[in-house]
Amino acid sequence: MHARPDRHDPRTLSDLSLAVHAGIQLDSTLALRTPLVMANSYQLPDDPSDISWSATAPGLYTRNTGVNQAALEQKLAALDEAEEAVALASGVAALHAVFFTHVRAGDHVVVSDVVYEATWRLWTELLPRRYGLEATFVDVSDLDAVRAAMRPETRLVCIEAIANPTTKVADVAAIAEIAHAGGALLMVDSTFTPPPFFRPIRNGADLVVHSLTKYLNGHGDAMGGSVAGRHELIEPIKADAMVDVGGIISPFNAWQIQRGTVTLPLRLRQHFTSAARIAEMLADDPRVEYIAYPGLDSHPDHALAVRQFEGRGFGGMMTFAVKGSPDVQNRFVANLRLITSGFSLGHDDSLIVHTGTEGGRVAAYPEPFRTHGHLRLSVGLEDADDLLHDLAAALDATFSH
Ligand SMILES: *Cc1c(COP(=O)(O)O)cnc(C)c1O
Repeated sequence: MHARPDRHDPRTLSDLSLAVHAGIQLDSTLALRTPLVMANSYQLPDDPSDISWSATAPGLYTRNTGVNQAALEQKLAALDEAEEAVALASGVAALHAVFFTHVRAGDHVVVSDVVYEATWRLWTELLPRRYGLEATFVDVSDLDAVRAAMRPETRLVCIEAIANPTTKVADVAAIAEIAHAGGALLMVDSTFTPPPFFRPIRNGADLVVHSLTKYLNGHGDAMGGSVAGRHELIEPIKADAMVDVGGIISPFNAWQIQRGTVTLPLRLRQHFTSAARIAEMLADDPRVEYIAYPGLDSHPDHALAVRQFEGRGFGGMMTFAVKGSPDVQNRFVANLRLITSGFSLGHDDSLIVHTGTEGGRVAAYPEPFRTHGHLRLSVGLEDADDLLHDLAAALDATFSH
């Protein structure tokens, strides 16, 4: 027997119910929504002398945690199945908060060779040059290479469960074992794999990072980032990176993102079923040079994706190129009438972005990405038939003369 579902107890709720109810708090207005509290400061107790500068509870000063931030954090912790979560101003602020808090002088980190641009820049340029921190980049599909990259001073292993932009899938449980055997923490940037699709903590991750800007908010109108994990790992991020560095989330963005998460499981179903159909269609089109989507048999990590994501789908992101030069890729994008050319992903509207073959980071990509560049498509919530029609019509227009 399952426990009786109780909206006050997240442990009793299944995914759809959790997304609706976790983190919602009533206040004295008895409104059935969390009110938006735009205050910077709160009334102090009669004797405030023992309040710590590094306090991380709501009710003091908004840089020490706002009311809407706290409500969002409760919900994120429930969704990620973590003890605690911290919400910050952006996904990048969340990544930086992990590195700032958990990597010290003399430490070494192991980083996947395909990661978000900011993670790449932080670990190739900014942190090594400014602070002398050392990183080794490895192909995380090669577990022996991950093992070989570990050093006695390795403190952190950083991976993406599905990598942006190549859609390489990392074996989170296997890499967690390697990290822990070496005394390191595993951080998973799970932006492409939001809950309930994937829960890295169940697979052994210590820290889960999301760009809330993407699927968790889902509506393209607020930026945020989060880190979830055990209390002993999240509390210092709050006390140090949040209070003393200050990349806090605005109350309004926290409120919007909390509302966005209500429909997250429902939205993911639509993103994923449409993405699977679009990937099949592109894979069958001779005018497409290559397509990387973990749900396709042709994807090198398909078997791992089937096992790791346990039938819940393969995500809403894919990367492909049409046959031809970068100019042809641009022409194809210009010929789209429903899908929009724009950065970001996980929004209600489908977004595509063309990235060329230039740049040092691209050297780490597998062959088709290196030579042809790529079109990264975030499949939105439009009707799948409309999206298929738009892509087919744009292919026809691009290759008709
Ligand atoms: C977008 C993104 C980020 C950064 O998030 P922002 O909210 O834009 O700062 C980090 N990791 C991945 C995988 C992303 O796609």
